Amino acid sequence: MKCKRCRKADAAVDLPSHNSAFCPGCFFLFFRRQVVEGIRTLSLLSPEDRVLVCVSGGKDSLVLWDVLMELGYRTEGLHIDLGIEGYSDRSREKVLAYAGARGKEPIVVDLRAEGIPIPEAAKRARKEECSVCGTVKRYFFNRIAARRGFTVVATGHNLDDESARLLGNLLHWDQDHLSRQHPLLPEMAEGLVRKVKPLWRVSELETAAYGFLSGIDYVTEECPMSLDATSLVYKEALSLIEEKMPGTRRHFYQGFLHQNRDVPGNSGAPGRRECGNHDEKNTGGEASPPRKCISCDAPTYTETCSYCRLKERVTKARERL
Ligand code: SF4
Ligand code: ZN
Repeated sequence: MKCKRCRKADAAVDLPSHNSAFCPGCFFLFFRRQVVEGIRTLSLLSPEDRVLVCVSGGKDSLVLWDVLMELGYRTEGLHIDLGIEGYSDRSREKVLAYAGARGKEPIVVDLRAEGIPIPEAAKRARKEECSVCGTVKRYFFNRIAARRGFTVVATGHNLDDESARLLGNLLHWDQDHLSRQHPLLPEMAEGLVRKVKPLWRVSELETAAYGFLSGIDYVTEECPMSLDATSLVYKEALSLIEEKMPGTRRHFYQGFLHQNRDVPGNSGAPGRRECGNHDEKNTGGEASPPRKCISCDAPTYTETCSYCRLKERVTKARERL
């Protein structure tokens, strides 16, 4: 099959959801345009931004960093080593190798050195690994960005991630999460920087193709903690539908964004706010500003932020041994 754009070279990537097929050169063009369009339509980034790109070592985040650099944004990478035996070491190696080859030195937060490696912390705090991981990652995203003068944090969530999350939120009619699901979460207060997902228009398949064709060496194994994650079930369900009806995933997610034009936090609605620590509540009738955690100074709606509370719980459980 020939490339449907240039009609000369052989097609290397078949994209039924766009009723198209591209040769490598035209695919790169297509992919970058999708990202540019995603950034432009939702005003995710501006050329003045200093972007902190969260890189796990997987394909999506490395591809995101790659494209943003290509597009000329001022970026630095942040890698959080989760302290998962074997997997975290391999992930960190990939990030360092990718960055090193481009003359970059990523910021690395080592959770073992911080005394809060995810598997142990989850066990001691008697919580799910992914819930602990979410709290810790959000905390460091905000902290590093605020302390080092980044204006925005970018993560590599793609269309498959976001549509699976949307399906899960809809199946549970989780209004609270639905109201905050958006590729842009504006800065809420000092220390709670803007979060963006510039890959929201591109699918996992497209990201994988970009990674492969541009020779990015990423960690291919899934995080071992993700094996029973419910999000994978939603992804599979959507893949099944997508196979029969190409383009459904895109219509599903874009339709949701179209109907919910309010960027979270811009509507002036009170209630839960995206905080450094996601599960904290702003319980006031009015949207009141966060205060400072008495232990670490991070913005929080309670006396102590949820990261510090988690860390204290883990430390105490460790001491009881
Ligand atoms: Fe963290 Fe869970 Fe994702 Fe692993 S699967 S990186 S533990 S959120
Ligand atoms: Zn704190």
